[in-house]
Amino acid sequence: MDRQLLEPSQMDGKLMYRYDTTGHKVALLPARCKLGRHTLGHSQFRAVVENGEARVSCLACANDGADHFWRLTTTAPAADRAELSEELYFDLVLRRSQAPLSARGGGDA
Ligand SMILES: [Zn+2]
Repeated sequence: MDRQLLEPSQMDGKLMYRYDTTGHKVALLPARCKLGRHTLGHSQFRAVVENGEARVSCLACANDGADHFWRLTTTAPAADRAELSEELYFDLVLRRSQAPLSARGGGDA
């Protein structure tokens, strides 16, 4: 979404949702940590939603002192459950992992 260009750069994107067959809202979290090093289904992570922002922290990266958490804006009330999505945030992970290669490349293509 173009909207991202308007956000402060420290926000990574927007938290996505889906509704399951029983009508319950399910928050979709990135399946990979921000640096793309770990699959969050296998590594430990912690998700916190507060002040209109969801933070998904990779505990392995946090131990390394790396940039360990996603910051995703959320406008909706908390979901009933959460699950991991590989596809939805793939672009974000890709952009992140390529960022060091072109530090000032713009990246808004
Ligand atoms: Zn990690």
